[in-house]
Amino acid sequence: MANTKNFETDIAIVGSGGAGMAAGIEARDSGARTIVFEKSDELGGAAIISGGGCCIVGSPIQKEMGIEDTPDLAFNDWVKWGGPGTDVVWARYYIEHSLHDLYHWAEVQGVKWIDMKPQEGNSVMRWTRPERNGLGLMTNLIDSFREKGGEIINNIEITKIKIKNGRAVGLGGVNTSTGEEINVRSKTVVITTGGFNSNIDMVIEARPEFNEFKVMEGSGRGSTGSGHKMVTEVGGYLTHMENVWFYVYATPDYLYPGHKRGLVCRHIPGYIWVNQQGKRFHNESLSGGNSASPAMLSQTPPHAWAIVDKEMKAFLEIADPYYRNGDQIIREKVEELLENSPYIKKANTLEVLAKEINVDPKTFLNEIERYNAACAEGLENEPDFGKPLKQSKPFDTPPYYGIQFFPLARKNFGGIKTDIRCRVLNKHFEPIEALYAAGEACGMAGGHINGRAGLEGTMLGPSIFSGRVAGGWASNEIGLGSGFIGKPNRT
Ligand SMILES: Cc1cc2nc3c(=O)[nH]c(=O)nc-3n(C[C@H](O)[C@H](O)[C@H](O)COP(=O)(O)OP(=O)(O)OC[C@H]3O[C@@H](n4cnc5c(N)ncnc54)[C@H](O)[C@@H]3O)c2cc1C
Repeated sequence: MANTKNFETDIAIVGSGGAGMAAGIEARDSGARTIVFEKSDELGGAAIISGGGCCIVGSPIQKEMGIEDTPDLAFNDWVKWGGPGTDVVWARYYIEHSLHDLYHWAEVQGVKWIDMKPQEGNSVMRWTRPERNGLGLMTNLIDSFREKGGEIINNIEITKIKIKNGRAVGLGGVNTSTGEEINVRSKTVVITTGGFNSNIDMVIEARPEFNEFKVMEGSGRGSTGSGHKMVTEVGGYLTHMENVWFYVYATPDYLYPGHKRGLVCRHIPGYIWVNQQGKRFHNESLSGGNSASPAMLSQTPPHAWAIVDKEMKAFLEIADPYYRNGDQIIREKVEELLENSPYIKKANTLEVLAKEINVDPKTFLNEIERYNAACAEGLENEPDFGKPLKQSKPFDTPPYYGIQFFPLARKNFGGIKTDIRCRVLNKHFEPIEALYAAGEACGMAGGHINGRAGLEGTMLGPSIFSGRVAGGWASNEIGLGSGFIGKPNRT
């Protein structure tokens, strides 16, 4: 029989991503004994491999660049983008707190914000990047939590929330390296287990229309929806689960069993996408989830070929730790992918490439010809879909590549329903005592803060912020601290 290891703490947090570490820091600041349990041998979840970009409204970086932004402007953009499914209360709460309670708070934990990037749907730039992206951000949060006396134990998979007299009283789990049983007694529990996009069965359950097509897992490896399962087992309510945010510029990871995971391909200026009929269908410079995903998903079948020539290929970046050494792209590994993936075809002429990717050669060559002509004429935008040609060039340098792109489930905009204090709600919308949840497990915050689409930076930002809220109120429930108050920016 397996041994049992017992833990006792004030606050037990499940998951060491952005939400979990923020909850931990807040709980430690309130004076609570806090343990974070992490199932993986690496800390940081999806947050540590993320771009690190957070939507910040009214930041010093915006001011330096002369950008006028206000919570009202951001709120309008947010609701317009997210549609009627947006949780307007949480959206407003996050937007107003993003300056002091995320940007400046993160600085206190050692994070350095360095620049911004434009993102679709925002009337001004707000996607704000920390030094060394998600890695820099999370390393500082993890270090800060530990410096404050917080404990993180990895290789512990939590499988059960223990309830007594309607109240969460601890956790059960297993040590994934020794098989030892884990028993946790705590005064409150915070679930920050991330999303479910690395569990393709859950993705298909949420979006059954994908059953007949290839769709890939695309979040952090630990994002398997285990928190959703544990919370529903104790009566918690899930909401807006169908709001899965897909990206469409990813090709299967042929090294992963069943080729179920996707690799995001970035920074290929000038490339075009064609459908299985050999026709372009979208302005490829708008590659975000709001416009590119519906465009690709309406093709028959819903996949595309990204067409690249030798010169364009030199810029290709693969957003996966195997292909990177910190911020550096390992070019030999990218070459290895291009040469060996069964989802990537290579040819010395465009005619042969058409055959390799099995599209109608006449249609395909005609598309390339029109595109090349627009480049040669020096047009600002190509005439069919309005793609800006500033960074483009004609397809004229063999070898040519066709990289097959399938939809990639990246982010979850639905999940565990909570109130504004991050208390998990049951189907009567009443809180389950001593049980809190935050981050992507809750569709980033509250259940559905983004609605059906995110302005970008609106995943990690709200995950960290709601983690703080959860940690503050989980401490307050046991008589420590005054709950999460923060400092709203209402200018
Ligand atoms: C490649 C990539 C890039 C991204 N870039 C951005 C970006 O630039 N901006 C943005 O806003 N968003 C971005 N996102 C999304 C963002 O990273 C996530 O929404 C965010 O990290 C969610 O934080 P979290 O703490 O809720 O979950 P996570 O960071 O995923 O952490 C959850 C943790 O819980 C652990 N866990 C799960 N189940 C258990 C269990 N049963 N027991 C113990 N531990 C468990 C997991 O292993 C994981 O470590 C990106 C996502 C990806 C995948």
